[in-house]
Amino acid sequence: MRVLGAAELLSLWERGMPRHMLDRAALLTATARPDWPAKSIADLPLGTIGASLLRLRAANFGPHIEAHADCRHCGQRLAFSLDVAKLLQGAPPEDDAPPCAPTAAVAGLQVRAPSLRDLAAVTDLPPDAAAQALLARCTLTGQSAGLDAAARTQVEDALEALDPQADLAFTLNCVACGQEDMAQLDMPTLLWDEITARAGLLLHDVHSLASAYGWSEAQILALSPARRAHYLALVEGMS
Ligand SMILES: [Zn+2]
Repeated sequence: MRVLGAAELLSLWERGMPRHMLDRAALLTATARPDWPAKSIADLPLGTIGASLLRLRAANFGPHIEAHADCRHCGQRLAFSLDVAKLLQGAPPEDDAPPCAPTAAVAGLQVRAPSLRDLAAVTDLPPDAAAQALLARCTLTGQSAGLDAAARTQVEDALEALDPQADLAFTLNCVACGQEDMAQLDMPTLLWDEITARAGLLLHDVHSLASAYGWSEAQILALSPARRAHYLALVEGMS
């Protein structure tokens, strides 16, 4: 998996900044998998997107995710720690070819796993209408409208089984109210926040070193992280 250089990370951050989060997820996946046709990424199953982002995250920010979520019962802010290797258990191996969207026959329908393009198409709808529209988009044959509750549950279970990695769920135990809950790891947002934080630090480094030495941005970003840190320590020691 790719380790992003300083200039590459800043360029990624700049290109992703004006985009919608779903579009950022596609951009991050294209960065993780430059060997995949860029046009195919919006149509990949969401589990493939998640696994690619987990691997990109591990290569650039380490194998342990330390983050926060709010308890849904009492609102307490909770720290959690996750292992990327554990989240990738059951994910397809990091092979060269992008997988095709898997399909299943269920409740008289032929359905396929949803993609980023599907989510983008329904993102502005209210939740119930979005779920209905998403199912209609992912129905290859048959009529998804008017399914009874039991058939709907069957279809939802089948979609989950098609792409089990699409939901990166984990258990969250609240230290304040004692409730146990399932939480979802929003991998594109998490990775994007980390890239934004690192971009801010890099820009700060550029500012400090350019101010002190008159070097260009390109020269500063081309320094190894160890040399950059060393010069920064010298500059901070002078001030
Ligand atoms: Zn709680």
